[in-house]
Amino acid sequence: MSVPVFRNYINGAWVDGPGFDNRNPANTDEVVGRFVKGSPADVASAADAAQAALPGWAAMNGPARGALLYRVAEILDSRFEQLGAEMTREEGKTLPEAKGEVRRAINIFRYFAGEGARLAGVLAPSERDRVHMFAVRKPVGVIGLITPWNFPSAIPAWKMAPALICGNTIVVKPASAAPLSSWRIVEACHEAGFPKGVVNYVAGSGGAIGSALVNARPVRAISFTGSCQVGNHLHAEASKRRLRIQLEMGGKNPTIVLADADFNQAVENTVNGAFFSTGQKCTATSRAIVEESIYDRFVEAVVERTRKLKVGDGMQPGIDIGPCVDQGQLDTVLHYVEVGKKEAGEPLCGGRRLTGAGYDKGYFVEPAVFAGVTQDMVIAREEVFGPVLAIMRARDLKHALEIANASEFGLSASLHTTNLSRMYEYIYGIEAGLVTVNLPSAGVEYQLPFGGTKDSSFGPKEQGPAAMEFYSDYKTVYVKY
Ligand code: NAP
Repeated sequence: MSVPVFRNYINGAWVDGPGFDNRNPANTDEVVGRFVKGSPADVASAADAAQAALPGWAAMNGPARGALLYRVAEILDSRFEQLGAEMTREEGKTLPEAKGEVRRAINIFRYFAGEGARLAGVLAPSERDRVHMFAVRKPVGVIGLITPWNFPSAIPAWKMAPALICGNTIVVKPASAAPLSSWRIVEACHEAGFPKGVVNYVAGSGGAIGSALVNARPVRAISFTGSCQVGNHLHAEASKRRLRIQLEMGGKNPTIVLADADFNQAVENTVNGAFFSTGQKCTATSRAIVEESIYDRFVEAVVERTRKLKVGDGMQPGIDIGPCVDQGQLDTVLHYVEVGKKEAGEPLCGGRRLTGAGYDKGYFVEPAVFAGVTQDMVIAREEVFGPVLAIMRARDLKHALEIANASEFGLSASLHTTNLSRMYEYIYGIEAGLVTVNLPSAGVEYQLPFGGTKDSSFGPKEQGPAAMEFYSDYKTVYVKY
């Protein structure tokens, strides 16, 4: 079967070049698509095209821009089944998870399309007589969007849609491990009739073209989601040019389980948060911090539930956990399992690479549970970004919060309790940007601000009304009449 080719998109045209293959992590014999390996020159052309398109796009009225975003949502919706299946094949998450993400990307486009008719500025009374004063929103300019592979549709959508509705023009640089889902959004923008140069897409290795994007003269802002290592590097580079920058990075997210919790719900949510999407969510639970009196029972129940999870090709019905996204991610998981064994002893379940029929051609690993983990251990401190859960013991809520907060990260956190007072103690005491109660630590919606604190994030939050702050600027006006 011939391999479909997905070219870069620059100034309204599909641009060819040397390619790289994207393979299905559940079956590496299958090439999902061949993508064009963009060069620094392609990035420069894309940024120039975005700059040329900026005045026209910024001058278009908000509702008209919104109409185009609604059209993108309609086009994506018309291909809903296809996009879900493609995401499972490129990233590995199960088909229901992939469809859920495509639905979210569509809803994000609809949500921000509606913002086109709002784009509210500020109106305030003047201290001076007969002076009318207000501030209107204006675009920031050309924006570089750098995205990771783990939410290959939703994350590009939650950067592209607010950037575009605010009147900015964009250059999208997708993750090399999963570039197809965002390519489909760009294709929908093309079909929806966006003016040429407003949306540009350049795939290729971040190491090879990332600098070209940050240093492209027209680029005024960067929105990045990915690892702390790359985020910190980008921050240093962008600061030299005083670019506006937003970084969403790693996490080591805790779930605190108190003795008064709904026990079964706590077990289910912990397993869900730790292992669904193969633990490859930035908001995944990687530490369960459990009150002493229920600790043994909780560990036993989590292990029993984890053993029932079915690992396999996410296209198959009944599968709970797909493969790791690539060899590098699988190696990272297996490395941390070895580290965990040295520190905490054998995992109570899982931790092995799966082999045999249905597994040999993919990057499958059994979800692993370590118990008796303490704060000094590497598996309690470093992000694994895979299906590895560390269970820790706490004397009470105060102690649990101390453990939870003894991390350089602060992305998401969850608490299980039926006690109102403890819930508020946690809500105000936990150092995290996304806080859930009686829910998994993962699973957020687009209508509210998204992002972390401490080393997990930098800059204004994404999504919801907060996104408008990053993607627009104010122009303040004083009129004497
Ligand atoms: P990554 O390696 O940092 O890659 C993220 C993006 O940056 C990719 O597009 C990558 O391109 C690009 N990149 C790599 N080197 C670059 C450079 N020198 N200059 C510019 N861009 C460069 O992260 P990942 O492995 O894709 O994603 C996993 C990480 O993302 C985890 O740490 C996870 O916690 C984090 N994450 C955070 C959130 C959040 O909202 N906080 C959400 C999802 C994921 P290539 O793919 O071509 O290397």
